[in-house]
Amino acid sequence: MKITHRDDWRVIVTIAPRNISDFGFDGLGDIAGPVTSGPIEVAIAPRRLGDFGWVSMGDRLASNDIDGDYQRRCEELLAALLKQPHVREGRVACAETHTCSHCQLRWEVLTAEEAADPANQQDEHTVEGEPVCCEAAITEFRAERGIRALAETGGAA
Ligand SMILES: [Zn+2]
Repeated sequence: MKITHRDDWRVIVTIAPRNISDFGFDGLGDIAGPVTSGPIEVAIAPRRLGDFGWVSMGDRLASNDIDGDYQRRCEELLAALLKQPHVREGRVACAETHTCSHCQLRWEVLTAEEAADPANQQDEHTVEGEPVCCEAAITEFRAERGIRALAETGGAA
């Protein structure tokens, strides 16, 4: 079964500073004029779920829904940033990786083209979407779709 992992959560915002105090450079109004380049895009990581300031623990101890909690934290941060007059637009982003629940390898499936190539076929029942990592994943994929199981599996599966 394909397992999706999400990490590297971040809020990406486009900032169009009008003057240098929008960067936090205060007290320079007497000598600085307008900002003449930009807008700029910056990425901001959410504070770790397990980081409470006065104590720090693993995310698993702090949350029963790590992905959901990071997403909500990022959306809250994004909403707060968008209230700033010099923040133009933004989005929440994360990195997704997919692994196999049986063998923990990267989840990869055959495209229609690959499935049509005899070199990639387990047998004549191989179809598009069939996983390639391990026999257990193929067996599961076929059972879900009513496709004939692999021959010579030894009966233990
Ligand atoms: Zn696998």
